[in-house]
Amino acid sequence: LPRLDAPKAARQGGRQQPEGEPPLLQVHALKQYFDMGRGRVLKAVDNISFQLNAGETLGIVGESGSGKSTMGRSILRLNEWTGGEVLFKGIPLKYLNRSEMKTMRRHMGIIFQDPYASLNPRMRIADIIGESLNVHGMAKGKRERQRRVEELLELVGLEPSHAMRYPHEFSGGQRQRIGIARTLAVEPELIVCDEPLSALDVSIQAQIVKLLEDLQQRLGLTYLFIAHDLAVVKQISDRVAVMYKGRMVELADSEELYANPLHEYTRSLLSAVP
Ligand code: ADP
Ligand code: MG
Repeated sequence: LPRLDAPKAARQGGRQQPEGEPPLLQVHALKQYFDMGRGRVLKAVDNISFQLNAGETLGIVGESGSGKSTMGRSILRLNEWTGGEVLFKGIPLKYLNRSEMKTMRRHMGIIFQDPYASLNPRMRIADIIGESLNVHGMAKGKRERQRRVEELLELVGLEPSHAMRYPHEFSGGQRQRIGIARTLAVEPELIVCDEPLSALDVSIQAQIVKLLEDLQQRLGLTYLFIAHDLAVVKQISDRVAVMYKGRMVELADSEELYANPLHEYTRSLLSAVP
């Protein structure tokens, strides 16, 4: 029987952190500073530490500019850190070379706020997703690639026959689904969702949340879920972290955080919710 303190996804029959294995993600004293010139340094991510178990969702909230996206990118080592360390499945990422990091990155994905901005308007959906498969040498051969693309479209609730269409032929919600399919192509275990709902109509947001929850269960995904909407974060997250000026000022079980916020900034954030 799933334990009650297990992640939401595990309680619903999804994946659970295997006993005796290191947490899927460990972040130790991560720092990302930017040189702003004239001796000024912006501490975008300032000494952040936390762990994330397999199958878990950690929500990240905080005002614009508090360092959420920078932290998400740093975890995937899309930028070089100023300091600290990130371990994925117990493996420190700092000392991996380019090709080792590329191999490692296959297990990590990112979903952006506005997938349209990153979907090449001149490419058919099949090629956009196919390109993602190619990068990591997956689904070799035309037939196999086509089969996999159709499978991925079906997985995110799109018509497989739409694979030959172009991005502009889809609605905002459908484009986010395409973005998600592209991310899933390499079969990642950890996905950084960087405000995946912010560019969508409210009516569509709920559908995408449902999709992300379903995918988590079916595929055993682990999410770092960055979002503005505190109600959505509470719904989807096992734990929630609050960022303020590059620091993680509070991290707690989501129920606990919302019921009993300890940090002054968390209180002001929650009191702003109608
Ligand atoms: P959030 O996602 O919470 O809105 P960001 O991580 O995007 O915050 O940004 C945190 C801070 O770091 C902001 O002040 C932003 O302007 C700054 N920043 C982000 N990326 C860079 C960069 N490449 N160079 C300089 N400053 C940056
Ligand atoms: Mg951001």
